[in-house]
Amino acid sequence: MAASPKLTVADRLGADAFASDKESHLRVDAMDLCRQCALKPCIQVCPAQVYEWDQDRLRIRFENCLELGACRIACQTLGNGALIWAFPRGTKGIQYRYG
Ligand code: SF4
Repeated sequence: MAASPKLTVADRLGADAFASDKESHLRVDAMDLCRQCALKPCIQVCPAQVYEWDQDRLRIRFENCLELGACRIACQTLGNGALIWAFPRGTKGIQYRYG
């Protein structure tokens, strides 16, 4: 019996599928809280690089979200609590192939 190939994290993530929604399930209504957020931990903790600070605004690439929720916890504990987090609607979002 042949051994199954070892997959890296990048391999596993590359096999996942995303069903993008038109509307973001992640949002910030009070951008001033982000401007005053010293650490901006959402940018640091997201392995999918969903968050980027760009020209005095937090850019959110919700299409790449892995739905881990790490950004939500980071924002509430180390940030200014501006992030409004929800799962994508219905059948939208990531479809994991390898758990
Ligand atoms: S951690 Fe929260 S408050 Fe800070 S930049 Fe990110 S979303 Fe904004």
